[in-house]
Formats: sequence, C-alpha cells, structure tokens
Amino acid sequence: MTAPLRPGPLVVLHDHLDGGVRPTTVLELAGAAGLATPTDDPDGLAAWMTLSPDIDLSTAWERFALVISVLQTGRALRRVAREAVEDLAADGVVHAELRFAPLEHTRGDLDADRVLEAVLAGVADAADTGTTASIVVCGLREQDPARSLEAARLAARWADRGVVGFDLAGLEPEHPAHEHAAAFDVAREAGLGLTVHAGEMDGVHQVADAVDSCRPHRLGHAWRLIDDCRVADGRIVELGPTARIVREQGLPLETCVTSNACLGLDVADHPVRLLADAGFRITLSPDDRTITTTTPAREFELVARHHGMDRVELAAMAERAAVAAFGLSDEARAELVRRVHEGWAARPARLVHLVGRDEWAAAGDPYLPAGFADEGFVHLSALHQVLGVATAFFAGRRDLVALVVDAHLLHDAIVWEPGSGTAEWFPHLYGALPRHAVLAEVPFPPGPDGAFLLPPGLVRAVRRRGAGDLPV
Ligand SMILES: [Zn+2]
Repeated sequence: MTAPLRPGPLVVLHDHLDGGVRPTTVLELAGAAGLATPTDDPDGLAAWMTLSPDIDLSTAWERFALVISVLQTGRALRRVAREAVEDLAADGVVHAELRFAPLEHTRGDLDADRVLEAVLAGVADAADTGTTASIVVCGLREQDPARSLEAARLAARWADRGVVGFDLAGLEPEHPAHEHAAAFDVAREAGLGLTVHAGEMDGVHQVADAVDSCRPHRLGHAWRLIDDCRVADGRIVELGPTARIVREQGLPLETCVTSNACLGLDVADHPVRLLADAGFRITLSPDDRTITTTTPAREFELVARHHGMDRVELAAMAERAAVAAFGLSDEARAELVRRVHEGWAARPARLVHLVGRDEWAAAGDPYLPAGFADEGFVHLSALHQVLGVATAFFAGRRDLVALVVDAHLLHDAIVWEPGSGTAEWFPHLYGALPRHAVLAEVPFPPGPDGAFLLPPGLVRAVRRRGAGDLPV
C-alpha cells in the first residue's frame, strides 16, 4: 500500500466562481434576498447542487442558475470571492485564476464594472491567506456574439486591474467558438491571456475551430483531443492534425477529471495519462468545486490513484500551471515557481539530454556538447519536457539519441533555470557530463509524419523501478 499523496503547493487555472460557492452561503444569500431554494438544509442543498452523469445539461444549468440568482449584489459577490480564495488556500492553492461571466450578475442594481469591482475587493479581502488570485472574464457560447464582445471589452477595461484573461464557456454543441472570434480579438489587443472551453462536451472539431479562430494561449478541458490520436499498446503512436497543432504550439490543457466524470467519462478512462506521455502540457484544475464536489488537491489525488502519476509528475503539473498562469510579471512568476518547487521538494532523478548520434559517438569522456564553450552548461530535460525540446530545437532531425542521465550523481552541479523563449524551468548541468552518469542511450526518431513521440524504451529507462526522485 502506498502512502497517501500529500500534494505540495498548487496553482489553479480553471475554477468557476459560480461553480464553487459554499452551499451554506447559497442558503444565506438566498434567505437575505427572499429567494426560494429547493431545500433549507445545507447538506440537502449540497446534494441537490452536485452533478452526476445522469443529469442532462439543462438540468445541470439549474444549479448554476440558482447560484447566479443569489449573486446579484456587490456584497454577495465580494463575499463569495473572498470565500473562494479562503477555500482554495485551505486546500493548498498558492495562486488561482477565478473565472466567471460578469454580465450574468447585472440583473439587480449592479453594472458590469461594479460586478468586477466587488469580486476583486473580495479577492483583496482574502490577501491574509497568502494565496493570490486573479480574474478571467467569460463569454458564453450560447449567447449572442455581441454579448461576448461586450464581455471582452469589459475585460479589456480591467486588464491592468486584476483581470488577466478572457475565456469562452457555456454550451459547446452547436455553438462553435469562431462565432465569438471578435471578442478574442479585443481581448488579445488588450494583452489578456486567452483560453477556450473546447473538446469538453463536443468533439475534437470544436478544438480545431477554437484554436484556428480564437488563437488561445490555453485550452479548457480538450480531452477529446484523444479522438485525434491513434493509440496502440497503451500509448499514443500517431497524432492527427489538430492534436499535432495543439502539442506543437505547446498549448497547456486545463484538465478537470472530476468535472469530466460528471459528464460521463470515468476518471479511470480519462486520457490524461496518454496525453501527458505524448507531451501535451497537462495542468489540473477543479472546474466547479461545489457543483462537481471536488477540490484541487483531490484532482491531484485522483490522477495519482487512477493513472499512476508519481510525485515528480504531479509536481511538474503544478509547476506547469505556474508557468502558464496569465498576467504575472516575470518576478511574480519566478517567485511562484520557486514556491511550487520548494513545497513539492520533488525533482526527477532521471534526466534526458538529446544529441546527434555521430556527435555522441565521437565525443570523449567527459562529454562536452557543441555549444558548451559558449553556454557553460549541458542542457538537460525532465521527461515531460523532452518532446517540447525536440520539437523546438531538433525538428526534422532523424539521428537523435536520448541519453538518460542519473541526476543523483550530478545533483550538486544541476541548477534549474528558466529556459530561453519559454517560461518553463529546465535543469542545466554546470560542468561536463561524465559517461558513467549516462544510464541508457535510446534512439529518438520522429514518426513517419515528422512528429516526435516518446520512445517506449526511453519512458522505461527514465521510470525504472527504484529510480526515486531528488529533494530540491
Ligand atoms: Zn469550466
């Protein structure tokens, strides 16, 4: 029996403000507003609010409709924003993006600017938790595109005051993202981060449409990308056109396994492991904490339990979310990544260096790669970084060898630093690489379509039993 997972600091990218309100708060706010609820009992209401696979989408929407009906005053919005940050902080989250559709909260006396003002005040009220939070404004697919354009203009007005991104949420089938492309143009012009719910309730064609028309920086869910991949022997062996674009653009996926389970995809059947092993940038988020009955830490526990993700892989997902968070200064991002690294205290014990076959064959001992004299270090990658490195720096090469390096032997000489051109942190070996630290040499050819996939031999060599991980 393995020890229960104790997650390190978490970064949450996909958390709906209206999907995470405490049931007790819903009851109190409804009482104060004179609104009826299905029951007066907090446990009963919590049960009613919880989604399950046998609930259809329109019934599910009633849950959100009740919550939104009680969030029509500045005081209510301020309260739930504060409580959201408090609940996330209690769960181990150090930074979160809260998303919602402000225009849905203007049925009372508030205008949309006052809505954002109240939510940001609530976030500020929770500053003593030590957890930082920012806001992503949502447009809704099923509404008139003029309304999502209005939401994007609102987000743009608040771009330097706590709003960091724009998202398209709502009902996916029959409502393609391209109808809302003008909203994304406005948000992009304002410098906001862009994300789209796509490939969640509908097929991979919605991912293709969203990527093509909205040019997002991240994707919400997108688990249906698996339909665009060929799987054999428990791994992805070929990428279709949309999957390939998403992977080669390195678009982080905001993966929410419990939420997807509520729509009928069992956690054990979720393609999170397949996609992670094929180099997709997986991050984990709760989506709707109350309505799907989960927390960020629980999402990490679930992928550990059902998909065998180890501590190093989980830490990498937390780090990746810090790297992919919208609206952070370089300093704030570096500090966030540092907190994640320190808190997880987990580094991979096996690292990888990519090199041309002939260069490696001709090299002496210790090995000094071409370019060492200029840079002063040897580039290494954690397993989850290898495909990104290969695609960015070795496209078209057919002669690569992956060297599996024992990081224990070189621990004191390895420094994790931001990579050039990406915010991701990579291990740099300050010094030459002695041959005795190379545990395996694995051929690293691209597939017939030119796209790199992780060779199974490399995965086995890196995850070799007993390899363990390193303290930071
Ligand atoms: Zn969502």
